[in-house]
Amino acid sequence: PARTRFAPSPTGYLHIGSLRTVLFSWLWARHTGGQFLLRIEDTDRKRFVEGAEEQLTSSLQAIGLMWDEGPIVGGPHTPYKQSERLDIYQAHATSLIDKGVAYRSYATAEEIAALNAEREARGEPKLLVFRNLPGIDDAAREAAGEPYNVRLSLKTTGKTIVHDLVRGQIEFDNAALKMPDPVLLKTDGFPTYALAAMVDDHLMGITHVLRADEWLPTWPIHHQIYEAFGWEQPVWVHVPQVLGSDGKKLSKRHGDTSVTEYIELGFLPEAIINYLALIGWSYDDKTEFMTLAELIERFDLNRIRPSGGVFDRDKLLHFNGVYLRNLAAADLAQRIAPYLSKAGLISAEPSEAELAKVAEYLPLVQERIKLLSEAPELLDFFFVDPQGYDPALLVPKKGDPAQTVEVLGQVKASLEALDTWDSPSLDKLLHDFVNQLGLKIPQVFMPIRVALTGRTTSPGLFETMAVLGKAVTLARISTAAA
Ligand code: GLU
Repeated sequence: PARTRFAPSPTGYLHIGSLRTVLFSWLWARHTGGQFLLRIEDTDRKRFVEGAEEQLTSSLQAIGLMWDEGPIVGGPHTPYKQSERLDIYQAHATSLIDKGVAYRSYATAEEIAALNAEREARGEPKLLVFRNLPGIDDAAREAAGEPYNVRLSLKTTGKTIVHDLVRGQIEFDNAALKMPDPVLLKTDGFPTYALAAMVDDHLMGITHVLRADEWLPTWPIHHQIYEAFGWEQPVWVHVPQVLGSDGKKLSKRHGDTSVTEYIELGFLPEAIINYLALIGWSYDDKTEFMTLAELIERFDLNRIRPSGGVFDRDKLLHFNGVYLRNLAAADLAQRIAPYLSKAGLISAEPSEAELAKVAEYLPLVQERIKLLSEAPELLDFFFVDPQGYDPALLVPKKGDPAQTVEVLGQVKASLEALDTWDSPSLDKLLHDFVNQLGLKIPQVFMPIRVALTGRTTSPGLFETMAVLGKAVTLARISTAAA
């Protein structure tokens, strides 16, 4: 069983694009019967955003990607927030110093900048190692208790051979890396990502590290940190970037906004999950619609494509429409209710009877709805008389207002006489009416449609009339004819 994790830094909201990597981690844990952890990487105090952690956890909850260990739920490796684990990182940094693979550096940022400037003037490359520097007496500073940071001594000989599940084996020539020894622990005692994430991934027993491929350039550092501790490497999985439909890095312009926003608009969690799973991964290159259970069963890290994948908001909207149409009316009614409540069409805590009404109306619009948030606009006339529509809408194209009023009056009279108020009877009555008066269908249907719904497009006319009932139908036609 795999142990995977999502390790966000609380620097903002969870983007729909980043959710894809989280989903892969979650699916892999579920697929293998393992655990999915949530860890908050809040050691960069400069980038910390108040409320971001709550945003992240509530987005994950809303989408249904619950974690087995982490904030809120706890677990054997508590605390799961890095700012509460500083002593752990400090002890680990010290152990690397004791092993001779890391060192305390007393050079300040200003001193390093000055030394680099001198070196540059002499045509020498920038500093890569930060101890025993000219003019800096490390021992004296240590004795005086001056501030320091801890850096890893990167290897400068041999090879770093890394293995990534998506990309295969990559060899780095250590002499060619030419990276500055990375900071593990900052002057203020806070760890960098490199130290904190590696220590935690190891201590928390993470078997598969799925992370964005933007970490590839610094991966040799992370690899060497594992080596420095003498730990077995996790399975590294650098998940390719999500791109916009124009092939460029995904951004707000492509709809890379918060997961919360997607949920609020009425994208269904199951549609989002199904769609995101297909970005850079596929089951068999053709199957698109899969239930969560099928995704869990079929998800395989080995089928992640190295070439990345495209997020297309329109395609997601299409998925959402399909999912919405497949929901049972009672289920859809439950999900739509909050939107209708917010629009004041039903009560804030709708009764069973109200929900039953919603479920009765829904089949009439279920073919057209693509977002839950469209529901009030599609359904309002079932709940309230249409108001404020332009009376000119009643009159069909090339029609005559006086004749329209007359038609409405006549049709009302025939409807009044109808005893069986259902869709087939209404269908028959209205078609007979059109034929008997020698009118064209739009001359009759359009005014009725507008009288009942306040708009020129609506669900099927007879079904709408049947659902609205005789009294409401007649009353609205009277109002329109007046
Ligand atoms: N805290 C890092 C970030 O948010 C985590 C990267 C990782 O998954 O290791 O970018």
